[in-house]
Amino acid sequence: MPTRPLQRADQQPLWTDPLACLPPLPGHGGERVNRQGTCAFATPGFNPPVGLAAVTTPRRFLELARSRLNRTASAAAAGSTASPYRATAIPGKGIGLIATRPIRAGERVMAEPVTVLVDGQAWGQEGWEGLLAAAVEGLGEKMAGEVRGLAMPDGWTGGVEEGVVRGNAFKISGKTGGEMGWHGVFLGVSRLNHACAPNMGYHFDRDSMEMRVYAAQDVWPGEELTISYVDLIQDSHTRQESLSATWGFTCTCQRCTRESHVLAESDSRVQQILDLWREVDDYGGGKGTPEKAELLVTLYELEGLQARIHEAYYRAALEWNGDGDQTRAVRYARLGLDRGLLMKGEDKPFVQSLREMVKDPKDHWSWRFRVDGKEKL
Ligand SMILES: [Zn+2]
Repeated sequence: MPTRPLQRADQQPLWTDPLACLPPLPGHGGERVNRQGTCAFATPGFNPPVGLAAVTTPRRFLELARSRLNRTASAAAAGSTASPYRATAIPGKGIGLIATRPIRAGERVMAEPVTVLVDGQAWGQEGWEGLLAAAVEGLGEKMAGEVRGLAMPDGWTGGVEEGVVRGNAFKISGKTGGEMGWHGVFLGVSRLNHACAPNMGYHFDRDSMEMRVYAAQDVWPGEELTISYVDLIQDSHTRQESLSATWGFTCTCQRCTRESHVLAESDSRVQQILDLWREVDDYGGGKGTPEKAELLVTLYELEGLQARIHEAYYRAALEWNGDGDQTRAVRYARLGLDRGLLMKGEDKPFVQSLREMVKDPKDHWSWRFRVDGKEKL
């Protein structure tokens, strides 16, 4: 443990002593948990004035603090302008966020630092919920109140803080996350309700520990901002089942509440997306074609899957390149990069792959792979 405070010159300390700890677990598999017990931390030095409540080992908390030392100002602090939304009560959905001005597709709507962080290795350990309550308490009355005011799963009867984490945490992997990663709660992002054709997409930025939310399509004032809580490429019945099982509600979004024959058409498109996926993702099978990938793009558009359209663009780029058409390949690679960077972040392998294709399609692994594959058959 450091004896000197770990802090930037102009800011509050990033390291604070633990508020409470569980004893180390002798003989238990998790190595880091073994060597040092899990503890509760609350520090105002992270993302002031909100601070950070964390349940983890002192070692991993120290790694987190160190990783923040040389960090440049967060995207949120650097570009903070008035939010284009406000929180309000939505009938049947609790609190939600409503656009207060037009938002253009691609616009960043939120860049929000994590407020509560639970180590994946501490999750479920005996006594962890007590540490979580202590860490949240340590944020001070105002912030602790905001955390405790978030929605809990329907019918939850356990502790408030645990209910909030179970109802709102995203699984995230930080630079110091290790295999198990973290469960992170973001106050503003937690207010985004679900829709099956959401108008927002998001990704977690590991450098800044921020969740970044972007508009996947144009949004008008008065429209609710939405993200998806489940896999959207499932038929309506399966989506409803998993929303009900995990989140305890029935979806009333526009994609789910259409007349039965229109809904059947939507479900049939989902099935076709899954079938096309199988064909174009089978690189050795020879069934993938550029036309099928183009059809995939159309089906994503018809299903309102703008928050995932990069997946279809990526496949169209591969198929056109695989067919030896570098101009069309680069067109889709550009489209895929434009959306993929916003919705998935910089450090994803498909983003790097599309960059390589833009640079030199003929040098990319996919160049003429469909044509040459057929010649070999
Ligand atoms: Zn829905």
